[in-house]
Amino acid sequence: MNKNSENYYEVLGVAKNATQEEIKSAYRKAALKYHPDKNPDNKEAEEMFKKASEAYSVLGDPQKRSEYDTYGRVGGFQGVNFESDIFEDFTDLFGSFFGFGDFFGRTQRKGPQRGSDLRYDLEITLQDVFNGIEKEIEIPIEDECEKCGGTGAKDGNKVTCNACGGRGSLFYQQGFFTVSRTCPQCGGEGYLAKEYCPECKGKGKVRKIKKTKVKIPKGVENGTMLRVSGQGETGVRGGTRGDLYIAVFVKEHPFFVRKGADLFCEVEVSLPEAVLGSEIELKLINGEKVKVTIPECCKSGEKIKLKGAGIYTTNEKNRGDLYVQVKLKTPEKISREEKNLWQELYKMEMKKSEKKENFFKKIFKGEN
Ligand SMILES: [Zn+2]
Ligand SMILES: [Zn+2]
Repeated sequence: MNKNSENYYEVLGVAKNATQEEIKSAYRKAALKYHPDKNPDNKEAEEMFKKASEAYSVLGDPQKRSEYDTYGRVGGFQGVNFESDIFEDFTDLFGSFFGFGDFFGRTQRKGPQRGSDLRYDLEITLQDVFNGIEKEIEIPIEDECEKCGGTGAKDGNKVTCNACGGRGSLFYQQGFFTVSRTCPQCGGEGYLAKEYCPECKGKGKVRKIKKTKVKIPKGVENGTMLRVSGQGETGVRGGTRGDLYIAVFVKEHPFFVRKGADLFCEVEVSLPEAVLGSEIELKLINGEKVKVTIPECCKSGEKIKLKGAGIYTTNEKNRGDLYVQVKLKTPEKISREEKNLWQELYKMEMKKSEKKENFFKKIFKGEN
């Protein structure tokens, strides 16, 4: 059953418009009544205790309460972790009341703990973005000690902690209540290594380099975070592994500039080539050589589009386009012969503009 469907107000026996003080007081009463220490082996009381704690974890927090009032549930709230939440609430609520902080403490052994997430920065080329790649990366991690299977004990031999008898906590009588504290000898685990594992010195973990193969999809964008599930650090006490996050950075290409799936490049064309039109050879991102036609009287800055010559979109199916921008190249110096030819051209240009001038003069006179 989804715990969120429980009516928290009914659980605590308060009205929907109850004040935070009333909620706190109702919870305190319920918690004292149903606490497992006062109801040993009473499943029903334990259930009530959990429900009350869950209800209070929402209604006791004005922000969560207003969310619950509005939506009937609290986002991201996945029931109560019996280990931490309840007892933290308790310490919070009763700590000052009874004059000591670790009032209820922990009555259970520590539960599984998820391993840490890891981040790895990977630099790839634009070529890699085009092709997609599989890379083997080496990550320094804290991993489970294989020698002892993560137990920290030599040959995996563990014995029940003699201080707490395997419960993970020690009990004290404090007047009316029994108070428990985490066992200092076994740190709450309930077990001790008979002899420490020589490999990890009892830690159950070792530092090592883990090799992981990761697949980088085609068309990946610069700065993308890829999540590789379950490749982070190992969990504790049977907890799941964390995740590995790979931050992908794409190196600048010397020739192509990328915008999404489209590529842009610039080619220099001589003045006669631009004027008369020509064909140039271009090496595409996939290594293929193609001929690009420069049209007659091509203008400086003109863009020639090569459809489908870009890189793949992130769905790995379609390709973007390549835009070749033409840049006119003025000669550094010219020979005698070239100079004569340019002068001929210049004279023709002048005649053209004289004609134009005369043409406009005629119109001007005609209008007068
Ligand atoms: Zn070991
Ligand atoms: Zn112990």
